[in-house]
Amino acid sequence: MLLNLAQIAPSTRTLGPGNRFAIWVQGCPFNCSGCIAPDWIPFKKAMVIELKVLADIILSQDDLNGLTISGGEPMMQAGRLAVLLEAILRKRPEFNVIVFTGFKKEQLIWDEARNLLNYIDLLIDGQYVASKNDRMGLRGSNNQRFHFLSDKLLPYMEEITTRRPGLEFHLLDDGVLMVGIPAAEFNW
Ligand code: SF4
Repeated sequence: MLLNLAQIAPSTRTLGPGNRFAIWVQGCPFNCSGCIAPDWIPFKKAMVIELKVLADIILSQDDLNGLTISGGEPMMQAGRLAVLLEAILRKRPEFNVIVFTGFKKEQLIWDEARNLLNYIDLLIDGQYVASKNDRMGLRGSNNQRFHFLSDKLLPYMEEITTRRPGLEFHLLDDGVLMVGIPAAEFNW
């Protein structure tokens, strides 16, 4: 079973509490003005990876607190992401999972999306609105909502909802990857 990803970051501290593995999927049906990742909007073949290979990479790290999945639009690969998370959480039940989606939670009514919600501890929903980027909390703009779907991340609620972590810049073979949520003024 394959996932079509835009990028991964094996370790980041800017997308949720603790040390996290970040996954960005390729392809998004939205086209938010000021999107932080316009290259990841097109539905095209990108970093295609076997789900088991990705699970093994994640499980080989013993210093992780959880995963953050963003994009692109994770719900467009909801079924396969649910399989990935099921495999990871079976072995690492202490992990917490944060997912960013451009959909509103009420729109996630198809089977694959509803199933994926079962593995998510914090869902941050809604499209990005640059004029509402107030640099507050772990979200791009203040129209987006925090849905704590389990109690795992409740101890971090204040931190998550009020503080915006900084940015990291990861060196890649072919460039630099910015990890985190920038201010609206950040110009692409
Ligand atoms: S939902 Fe996210 S990835 Fe999709 S266009 Fe909007 S900001 Fe970009």
